[in-house]
Amino acid sequence: MAAAGLSVVVLERGQYPGAKNVWGGILYREPTEAMAPGFEEEAPLERPIIEQRYLLLTDKAMMGAAYRSQRLATPPYNAYSVLRAPFDQWYAGKAEEAGAEVYPEFTVVDLLWEDGAVVGVTTGDAEGELLARCVVIADGVNSLLAQRIGLHREWAPIEQALVAKELIALAPDVIEARFALPAGMGTALEIFGESTAGLLGYGFIYTNRESLSIGTGALLEDLIETGLNVNDILDRFKAHPAIAPLIEGGETLEYSGHLIPEGGYNRLPQVYADGAVVIGDAAQLVNPINREGGNLAMLSGKLAAQAVVEAKAADDFSAMSLSRYRELLDESVIMADLRAIRNVTDFAHGRPHLLRDYPEVLSEMFEDYLRVSDVPKETKLKKMVGRAMALPKRRLMADLFGAARSLL
Ligand SMILES: Cc1cc2nc3c(=O)[nH]c(=O)nc-3n(C[C@H](O)[C@H](O)[C@H](O)COP(=O)(O)OP(=O)(O)OC[C@H]3O[C@@H](n4cnc5c(N)ncnc54)[C@H](O)[C@@H]3O)c2cc1C
Repeated sequence: MAAAGLSVVVLERGQYPGAKNVWGGILYREPTEAMAPGFEEEAPLERPIIEQRYLLLTDKAMMGAAYRSQRLATPPYNAYSVLRAPFDQWYAGKAEEAGAEVYPEFTVVDLLWEDGAVVGVTTGDAEGELLARCVVIADGVNSLLAQRIGLHREWAPIEQALVAKELIALAPDVIEARFALPAGMGTALEIFGESTAGLLGYGFIYTNRESLSIGTGALLEDLIETGLNVNDILDRFKAHPAIAPLIEGGETLEYSGHLIPEGGYNRLPQVYADGAVVIGDAAQLVNPINREGGNLAMLSGKLAAQAVVEAKAADDFSAMSLSRYRELLDESVIMADLRAIRNVTDFAHGRPHLLRDYPEVLSEMFEDYLRVSDVPKETKLKKMVGRAMALPKRRLMADLFGAARSLL
């Protein structure tokens, strides 16, 4: 918007942009390049991600799949690990370079209204009123401002996940040795099963330059139902025999907890009103399956900006005019991706055995197969097939068809 010549003010309640933000966090190169061309030269990035590991934990075992390739390890990279505090300050600087004014330590407490339309914001004190033709609401998952305007309600527990995360300091050579990484390169681990005490969600470990981001989270509804506490689940995850050696000797630098909006496509709120648009987490724009939220926030910001620039040209900031933003969203990769996974959470939430029972069965099968004894391999294979056949068939078929249906 600033680049298009509009007068733009960014109000941030934190001491600086990035001070209050929590993520894993993996930043994808291509969408970021589209927002800030040449960012790899200047932005504070941690490590290029050259490998993805998907792991399944039981209380005693770990199994999984890994993908590492020379293509991922050669520029242009696919993704980087990133720490929000330095990155967001740099990114806010780009907005300033384009002409926006960025004011940290200003908390918006309410919107200003005139004839039912939003006409600005207030920080609550006498001199804290700022008038604007359009307010871009980007206040994150709880979005008190979008609630004020009636665009959304408080999210239900099934529409959000609660995550606990730690940043653990480790020397770069220790990180590289423990994760078998070339110097300066990074990996991303997503870990299911025991990492969330079997609840719907996952644990993660991402390698930064001199630290690891480790966290775990689950659907709030499941946490409430089971009475489990996400901080305890993180402690349990960190103490797991397959995880503890990865973080051993590390010093905890930060501990944070945060919600992730997971209502997705089926529960997306209205994202425009007279004089306002809603972007990012405030609009539920997160793809939890692919841990994408940062890029969706940035892209939705860009699409909202396009709609606002068009509204300015037409001198019309009505809801009708700003509904162009929703049109742009619908045509974008954001909605295509969210539509594709729209039933996954409901599917998996209805099947608590998925991350609880199947990992145990798989683990038993691997254990039997790998243990060398006087039992012939053929007998072991037959036993494995027998173990798989002993699973409740109806449930297995329903799980397989349900998974395919929710993804296709
Ligand atoms: C543990 C965790 C791991 C994640 N991992 C990843 C990942 O690896 N990759 C990825 O792409 N996404 C990830 N996400 C999702 C991603 O962090 C979010 O989708 C993204 O940060 C959304 O950006 P946003 O600007 O909409 O909201 P936020 O980042 O939450 O920013 C909202 C901002 O608004 C400010 N604010 C709030 N209220 C007010 C107010 N009243 N006045 C002024 N300022 C206010 C806040 O201080 C904050 O700076 C993760 C999220 C979590 C919680």
